[in-house]
Amino acid sequence: MQCTCGSDLQGGTIEEWDDVHSLLHYTCHHCEWTIGIEMDNREASFLFDCPTWTDEARHCLERLPPYVEPLVRQEVETYAGQNAIKLISTGLMTEARNQGTVFWRPDAERRLGRIPEPVRAMARRELERTALEREMPEVTVVLMDEIKARYFGMGAQAS
Ligand SMILES: [Zn+2]
Repeated sequence: MQCTCGSDLQGGTIEEWDDVHSLLHYTCHHCEWTIGIEMDNREASFLFDCPTWTDEARHCLERLPPYVEPLVRQEVETYAGQNAIKLISTGLMTEARNQGTVFWRPDAERRLGRIPEPVRAMARRELERTALEREMPEVTVVLMDEIKARYFGMGAQAS
């Protein structure tokens, strides 16, 4: 990106705005002009040539013990690469560390087994996605009840 004076704008701090947006700061060192752009974390990928960490995500990384830091960095950057994501937020760190998978409580797993085959895979995906979004470590029957009511229009009647 270029400033109106023709100099290249230098990327500065990247603040996480909310769970899915960040505020990207750019500065022109020629005229000392600064702009902030609010972007969706996933849609911001085109602005970066290589994996770039938000300030918050980098701070999380820096707080890790020195022998763990490179492992986590690699794990998260690999996950980001697989998903064509360049801007790494704390939310993406959590997602990457779960490797996009969540655990199932045994009772939830049993109940999933009773769902008719054609919709079971869809139900599994929807439940895992929702659990990940909420940073829940596992799928529970309580979550299943909620999702069933919301997505499958079956209401909350006792079966
Ligand atoms: Zn300028």
